Amino acid sequence: MNLSQLFLDTAQRQPDAVALRFGELTVSYGDVADASARVAGLLAAHGFEPGDRVAVMMPNLPQFAAVYYGILRAGGVVVPMNPLLKAREVSYYLADSGARLIFAWEGAAAEAQEGAERTSGVTVVTVAPATFGELVAQHEPVDGIVDRDADDTAVLLYTSGTTGQPKGAELTHVNLARNVEVTQSDLLQLTADDVVFGGLPLFHSFGQTCTLNTALSTGATLLLLPRFDAAAAAEQLATYGATVFAGVPTMYAALLGLTDAPDLPNLRVCVSGGAALPVEVLHRFEERFGCPILEGYGLSETSPVASFNKPDRERKPGSIGTPVTGVEMQVINPDGTALPVGEVGEIAIRGHNVMRGYWRKPEATADVLSADGWFRTGDMGRTDEDGFFYVVDRVKDLVIRGGFNIYPREVEEVLYEHPAVAEAAVIGIPHPELGEEVAAAVALRDGATATEEEIRAFVKDQVAPYKYPRVVWFVDALPKGPTGKILKREISAPATEASRA
Ligand code: AMP
Repeated sequence: MNLSQLFLDTAQRQPDAVALRFGELTVSYGDVADASARVAGLLAAHGFEPGDRVAVMMPNLPQFAAVYYGILRAGGVVVPMNPLLKAREVSYYLADSGARLIFAWEGAAAEAQEGAERTSGVTVVTVAPATFGELVAQHEPVDGIVDRDADDTAVLLYTSGTTGQPKGAELTHVNLARNVEVTQSDLLQLTADDVVFGGLPLFHSFGQTCTLNTALSTGATLLLLPRFDAAAAAEQLATYGATVFAGVPTMYAALLGLTDAPDLPNLRVCVSGGAALPVEVLHRFEERFGCPILEGYGLSETSPVASFNKPDRERKPGSIGTPVTGVEMQVINPDGTALPVGEVGEIAIRGHNVMRGYWRKPEATADVLSADGWFRTGDMGRTDEDGFFYVVDRVKDLVIRGGFNIYPREVEEVLYEHPAVAEAAVIGIPHPELGEEVAAAVALRDGATATEEEIRAFVKDQVAPYKYPRVVWFVDALPKGPTGKILKREISAPATEASRA
């Protein structure tokens, strides 16, 4: 078994079909397959052995696919890295994973080089984005696929998990292949005629499984966008008639915020994950673009898809749906016992999608994976009587104000209902008597006006008195991670500007 087989079978079936579109450039399935064989050739020339780790530090360029499948077909383990990492971080990833070769695109080559020098014995291969063919033209292709066990690691996906330094989640060939199948057939119902938006970073699990692997295993076309920008994304979606959009909630909010967005008549299904999609954003987007959004849930450690609102059954806005085929989920107490319907506890996941463990970190693995295969997510949630799951919040995002628990998400949902609000994040800030106070950072929609007092009063009217944000302040935009998730830990309330009641 080998994850790359899914792609290579498709490439053999339809070599001339367009696999990737990158602006004006199109790359056929045959060309990606050929380049991947040359990547395997390059690895062979460097004395590579199956099971060796190879780092990839690239934005969403066509070369990403060639390198990814090239490493896999040679039996290697892909170590995707954010192309914006600095040398110090690069060297941490290289040392931790033990990768001896890194493919870095031109824009990251200097940091990759410096990072490699701090970790002896690492070769840097620079990838110029200009043309696809030149990537590895000088290497003889090594055809064929190295057979791997289903439970061998295919990708080491670095994630912070609930705590600490980034750890490599070991995702196996079967983890990823099954997750791709589920995404393709149960959720997106993808065919070779589909055009899939590829603006989620491919170095992250959501983009890698749900866009790259799913599109290229089906024969669809993937529209690559190196950095998400709402206006550029809307233009690409319209120009190339995208049928499938996968994004995180801030992408939906950004598309909605465009003043003159084109209509997107070809869109047939949208999926949201990575963070909670505010119900108000879901409704507004569906109304504006006439396309349903299926919200799902997962983590890097679960390949990532664990649950979804499925296309062929009732959807529940605000819910993360039901577990996908081959996956079980439950809400548990700290001691691991299952909780009844409606009670809030930690969400745990078991199934084909759960990682082997964290690479060379047995203690961190034991903290989250039980002997019988249950993975503790660090997310608080509950179920309803129909078996739908709801994420209440991250365990660590909980705000405790004077002994009362406040789930920021609940307050954020109300903030998003205010017509002037584009984005909002609720955090706890230190308070001398209460321990923590509820505070909200808010970005207003373009051209909209509101006062901080008005926002505070709007929430106060709709939630229990201990929950509304006493401190509200405006920001131009909220800090976001590489996938577009809001980074709460980077938000701090400016004491002087904040409106405090
Ligand atoms: P990552 O490992 O970067 O994919 O992040 C996984 C985390 O994203 C989960 O533990 C959740 O906290 C969050 N997440 C993913 N999907 C959702 C969702 N639909 N609703 C709320 N949080 C989500």
